[in-house]
Amino acid sequence: MQITSVAVIGAGTMGAGIAQICAQAGWRTNLFDAFPESLQRGMKNIDSFWDRGIARGKTTAEQKQQWAANLHPFSDMQNAVCDVDLVIEAVPEIPSLKHQIFADLGKMTRYDCILGTNTSSLSIKAIAEASTKPEKVIGMHFFNPVPIMKLLELVEHDACSEQTIAFAQAAGKAMGKTTILVKDVPGFATSRLGVVLGNEAIRMLADGVASAKDIDTAMVLGYKHPMGPLALTDLVGLDVRRDILLNLKQSFNDDSYTPHPLLEKLIAEHRLGKKSGKGIYDWTSGEAQETELPEF
Ligand code: NAD
Repeated sequence: MQITSVAVIGAGTMGAGIAQICAQAGWRTNLFDAFPESLQRGMKNIDSFWDRGIARGKTTAEQKQQWAANLHPFSDMQNAVCDVDLVIEAVPEIPSLKHQIFADLGKMTRYDCILGTNTSSLSIKAIAEASTKPEKVIGMHFFNPVPIMKLLELVEHDACSEQTIAFAQAAGKAMGKTTILVKDVPGFATSRLGVVLGNEAIRMLADGVASAKDIDTAMVLGYKHPMGPLALTDLVGLDVRRDILLNLKQSFNDDSYTPHPLLEKLIAEHRLGKKSGKGIYDWTSGEAQETELPEF
C-alpha cells in the first residue's frame, strides 16, 4: 500500500518530531493534540527545528516551505484521522489513555489504515485489543530527538499481520530510519536497558558517588555512549522514564525497577528535564548546567 497521508496523535516531545519527519517524507501530515497550547508548542518546535537547519546550512528555505505545506494542525481527532493511511499515537504513557485512543481510532479510521503506537513500554497486544482491528496495530517506537535518531523499533504482537509489519517497515524506511523487529515483551529491546541505566545513574548521584557531569562523562568517554545517562534522562523527560520504570516493575513483578526517590522528588518539584527547563541539570541556558538537587 502506498503511503500518502499520516496523522500523529499528541504534539509533545515525540509527536512533534514524528510529525516533522512525516512531513519531510512528503506525506500529508495531520498533527492532533487534545490541548491547544500543546498543539501550538509542537508546531512552533517543528518550525524552529527547520529554521535552525536553514541557519546551519543543512536545509533550504524552499525545502522548509515544501515540508511546512505538508503539515496541518488539528484540534479535532476525528477530522485528523478519518482519511489517512497511517496513524502514529504519541500521547503520555498511561495505559487507560492509550486504550481509549485506540478504541476511538478503531471507529474513526478507514478499515485499511495502519495504527502505530510510540509506547516505550506498554503491552502492544493490550493496546491492539482495545481497537476493533488488532491485526492493523503495531508498536512504532521512535527515539528522541526523532528527526536525528536513526532507530525505529517495530514491535509485533500475536495478532499483528505480516502486511502491517511490511507496511511499518516501508514507512520507517521512507522516514529515513533503520527498523528492527522485536517481540512484544515489556520494555522491548531498548527501554528496558535504558531506564535501568538511568535509574542506577540517579542512585549513584544521590549516593554522592560523583557529580552528574562526571557520571555522564564516565559513560561517554569510558563506554563511548553518545550522551550520559543523566543528560539522556533529562532529554527523555523524568516523568516519562518514571512511568516506564513503574510499568516494568508491575509487568515483571520486580522491585528492582522501583524509581529512585530522588527521581520521584524531582518530578514532584516539576523538574521534568529539558522540556521544563530543569531536571537533573538546569537547561535554561540551552546547555546542561549542574544545579542543586533537592532533599529526598
Ligand atoms: P509529552 O508529554 O511530551 O507529549 C504528550 C502529548 O500528548 C502532549 O502534547 C499532550 O498534550 C498530548 N495529549 C495528552 N492527552 C492527549 C489526548 N487524549 N489526545 C491527544 N493528545 C494528548 O510525551 P512524549 O515524551 O512525547 O511521550 C509520548 C509517548 O512517546 C509516550 O508513550 C512515551 O513513552 C513515548 N516515548 C517517549 C520518548 C521520549 O524520549 N520522550 C521516547 C520514545 C517513546
